[in-house]
Amino acid sequence: MASYDLIVIGTGPGGYVGAIRAAQLGMKVAVVEKKPTLGGTCLNVGCMPSKALLHASELFEEAEHSFAKMGIGVPTPKLDLPAMMKFKQEGIDGNVKGVDFLMKKNKIDVLRGTGKVLGTGRVEVKAADGKTEIFETKNIVIASGSDVTRLKGIEIDEKRIVSSTGALSLDKVPEKLVVIGAGVIGLELGSVWRRLGAQVTVVEFLDRILPGMDGEIVRQFQRILEKQGIAFKLGAKVTAVDASGKKLKAQIESAAGGGAETLEADVVLVAVGRVPFTDGLGLKEAGVALDNRGRIQTDAHFATTVPGVYAIGDVIAGPMLAHKAEDEGVAVAEILAGQSGHVNYDVIPGVVYTTPEVASVGKTEEDLKAAGIAYTVGKFPFTANGRSKVNQTTDGMVKILADARTDRVLGVHIVGREAGEMIHEAAVLMEFGGSAEDLARTCHAHPTRSEAIKEAALSVGKRAIHM
Ligand code: NAD
Repeated sequence: MASYDLIVIGTGPGGYVGAIRAAQLGMKVAVVEKKPTLGGTCLNVGCMPSKALLHASELFEEAEHSFAKMGIGVPTPKLDLPAMMKFKQEGIDGNVKGVDFLMKKNKIDVLRGTGKVLGTGRVEVKAADGKTEIFETKNIVIASGSDVTRLKGIEIDEKRIVSSTGALSLDKVPEKLVVIGAGVIGLELGSVWRRLGAQVTVVEFLDRILPGMDGEIVRQFQRILEKQGIAFKLGAKVTAVDASGKKLKAQIESAAGGGAETLEADVVLVAVGRVPFTDGLGLKEAGVALDNRGRIQTDAHFATTVPGVYAIGDVIAGPMLAHKAEDEGVAVAEILAGQSGHVNYDVIPGVVYTTPEVASVGKTEEDLKAAGIAYTVGKFPFTANGRSKVNQTTDGMVKILADARTDRVLGVHIVGREAGEMIHEAAVLMEFGGSAEDLARTCHAHPTRSEAIKEAALSVGKRAIHM
């Protein structure tokens, strides 16, 4: 029987990163994966393929609508969807091969099959052909990720009624796409298909989009998306989808009930969140407890209720984000090696990769109000940023929230092009407990979009220069 210091179940960003860190720290490590390729949802059917399609569809739209005014004459671009899907697949293949390489480089064994926890120190791996093998290990980390949340009575077939997985592989552009849920997936994939020609309607239960992000920022973002052509039905829910005819018929009601209407669609995308994936792991038999939301219960050191069994990523509490899972993977490996692994949950950036992007780190204005913390606000619009003006990409703004007493930056929120790259200077500042004054006095290269962050920091002290 092969034995290890650590077996990690699942090879998404949490699992494979944790495995690498453990190997770096001298542990003999194996990962268990049931899918044909490593990398989990993020690399295969999530973050990465969606970014390939967002990139390609953005250039498609730019070529059609923005090139001419810059003096670039091109014929009206034609969509070759199979070629775009091939571009996406090449990106996926490159990344998953990269993870294979990293496993080899770090001498991590890849055990192919479904992993099951048999209790402290034992993992069963059931291969696709049904053969099972048992492995001994000092520690186990469960990094099994999450699965799509389903809606009662709306059967996902991944052809016409799709989750994010099917929406990344449609074989033609739907004339009409109805998206259920104005969260990150709905807005990213809704944007992809709108740019490629679909009429997109997003139905959202709440009276706002992107719950959890700063309200003022997302109101501005919604107006930008509406200008781009996405229609929103807020405070509404889809109660059923009739798939018997050539067109789908989505039944919409107001969130409170009543006011029924029918929306026709070629494709309906269900994007109402994700749930922790714990099926087949043998958790109940092993004594690994779940919390009241079906997530694996862990303490501050990622330990479950069974000694030697740990859990990280989407399957435990906290935001379902690849980078949060990665940081937890590193932290748990360091804890197992006797170090003090740690994740700062107050500084986890969140990005919506649309055009413009929305990026956020730390507290929103709503959070601060709810917590009764006195704060000052600094804002700066991209319309006043020189670089954005010359590029004619002026949608959006930067908003900085600082402690009214100490000036410590508590939250930074950006809607604008490249916001997802720009947010990290705010994250570093916040990791060091920096103030708006620190940010305002840091020299920023000119001309860059990042100068809008410096100006927003200046604006906290009411001394923005270009406004
Ligand atoms: P989400 O939680 O971001 O959004 C789901 C939305 O659906 C919410 O606005 C919610 O109010 C709404 N909703 C729920 N039930 C509904 C109903 N019955 N009718 C209408 N609306 C309803 O979930 P998601 O967009 O599905 O994404 C899943 C997870 O994946 C999230 O945790 C997200 O953070 C993560 N993700 C992140 C990224 C990124 O970081 N760029 C990209 C994709 C997914």
